[in-house]
Amino acid sequence: MKNVTVFCASSPKVKPEYLEEAAKLAEELVKADYRIVYGGGEVGLMGVLATRALELQGQVRGIIPHFMVEVEWEHKGVTDMIHVNDMAERKKLLVKDSHAIVVLAGGIGTLEELFEVLSLKKLGQIVQPIIIVNTAGFFDPLLQMLDKLVDEQFMRAEHKQLWHVVASASEVCGALEQLPRWSANAIEFAAVK
Ligand code: AMP
Repeated sequence: MKNVTVFCASSPKVKPEYLEEAAKLAEELVKADYRIVYGGGEVGLMGVLATRALELQGQVRGIIPHFMVEVEWEHKGVTDMIHVNDMAERKKLLVKDSHAIVVLAGGIGTLEELFEVLSLKKLGQIVQPIIIVNTAGFFDPLLQMLDKLVDEQFMRAEHKQLWHVVASASEVCGALEQLPRWSANAIEFAAVK
């Protein structure tokens, strides 16, 4: 079974369309027989994602640091839960052996996770597709910023292929099977010349 890593919000107070997208993504991934690997949280998009997948008898793996377990942030229904020492270890395990990374709307934690994987991929340290689900145009300002990085030569035009944008969760499974993996020799063209 292939693992798909999902980064998304912990906030439960966001507009329903964002929460519904997490449920839809869970349905799509379970239907296509992927294991969902995520941050292990119980609330927000994270909670909706895991709960919906479990309702459908899907496979869900959570990876959560001890300090979040202590404040009872972990999803009690997820039995495949890995406890780690810190955020760095968590991020490493979240992307290890994953077939693709999917990013839903989120806050600063989600954006940090997204930028870490974009940066690792640019350096050839990871090679899997990174799919951004642009629910209701949530990521438009960030995508503009990424374009600016290329336009103003902070990175190369090739680097626009580090990420792939879809409009909704229903497009994720189709995209992740078609998208090529990144070159393991990416370090050779990582620098702007
Ligand atoms: P954010 O996008 O800021 O909501 O953060 C999502 C990420 O932040 C998760 O991967 C966690 O690292 C962390 N996080 C923040 N708040 C929580 C919470 N209440 N429960 C679980 N994880 C959380």
